[in-house]
Amino acid sequence: MTLHFPNMAEPEGRTLGDEEVAALERVIRSGMLNSVWGAEARTLEREVAELYGSRHAIACASGTAALHLSVVAAAPDPGDEIITTPITDFGTVAPILAQNAVPVFADVDPSDGNLDPDAVAALIGPRTRAIMAVHLFGAPARVGELRRLADRHGLTLIEDCAQAWLTELPGPSGPPAPSGPPAPSGPSAPSGPSAPSGPSGGRYAGTAGHVGTLSLQQWKHITCGDGGLAITDDDELARRMRLFADKGWDRAAGRSHESLGLNYRMTELQAAVARAQLAKLPGVVESRRRTAGLLVEALRDLGGDLGLPRPDGHAWWLFPLLLPRGDAPELAAHLNAAGIPARAGYLKEPLNRAPLWDRPVYGSSRYPLEGYRPAPCPRAERLVAATLLIIDWNEHYTSEHVKAIAEAIAGYPGRS
Ligand SMILES: *Cc1c(COP(=O)(O)O)cnc(C)c1O
Repeated sequence: MTLHFPNMAEPEGRTLGDEEVAALERVIRSGMLNSVWGAEARTLEREVAELYGSRHAIACASGTAALHLSVVAAAPDPGDEIITTPITDFGTVAPILAQNAVPVFADVDPSDGNLDPDAVAALIGPRTRAIMAVHLFGAPARVGELRRLADRHGLTLIEDCAQAWLTELPGPSGPPAPSGPPAPSGPSAPSGPSAPSGPSGGRYAGTAGHVGTLSLQQWKHITCGDGGLAITDDDELARRMRLFADKGWDRAAGRSHESLGLNYRMTELQAAVARAQLAKLPGVVESRRRTAGLLVEALRDLGGDLGLPRPDGHAWWLFPLLLPRGDAPELAAHLNAAGIPARAGYLKEPLNRAPLWDRPVYGSSRYPLEGYRPAPCPRAERLVAATLLIIDWNEHYTSEHVKAIAEAIAGYPGRS
């Protein structure tokens, strides 16, 4: 009998249950599905702000919408530049263009695919307005260094935490202490009210920058189908984001529009499900950490030249591996043949190589990209084409799943 690997597109791979059903029923029976007049989205915002220890959380329609709000908060002039990573979801980059700003791709740290602060520093120029970092696959990006860089140059630092719910940043005195012994509670066990205590040693990814963003899309740690949140400690940035998410409409001022805005509101249905999911989030991340830690240990015991992910602070949206000799596609095929969900590269091409940069942006116009060519990012390109392998991860994996993956990797003929 082959072992089934639960995935996030099926009930066995999610934590959706009676709590979400009850939440939806509560909203539907209330007759109020819109968050301008309902209480669910505002309560979700308070709960997320409390969990992250931030002054504000703004709920919105998607992770991409939250990123759009964050770019609006950074307030680039048309043609200004925003430095970001070529290995991410397009939702990181689309909002830059939507605000008529220019994405500048910096190369990544080859050990984890996250932005290399030195590469970012080398690209800062007179038109740079913001840096958008992504905590790729749940591994903490070097946002402490990026924040110092941003402060030195007067830039806004945005942290895209769509893959990084509860990722922990290194504390002032080194990385967070390793989490304690495996707790008996599974991901579906009800966890207490979300404690504002924060992570063990440092703090959560999303709180080092001026704005952090989260996603509730189907494939993320927790979901309401689609949904997003932006967190910030800055009252003025929060005000800009709230206005943009609600048609530039300051509801306290009557039917009057202060600034350009869209309708990026989260519905009460989304928010109610998200609140039930948020209560399960600590269990989801804890469970992923426990089994991913087991796989790291098992692979370390195998030896060889496989590059293993650093567990410190990792939230394990996916489990990445590095194949220094460039045979990630071959190992992915080998794992797939053993029934293990794995893929090489994550993207077809890094975003600096996407076909879109040769094409018009608006109608027949290339504005603001006239004469624009993204610079090469050789380390990102090598990761995506050859060395990066990702194994799907899930809070319902057990030590059996870990064992099956470790055995399949041990049996890979190309291993050295
Ligand atoms: C999923 C994702 C997004 C986009 O979020 P949506 O909710 O799908 O709009 C942005 N950035 C990263 C890194 C993501 O993984």
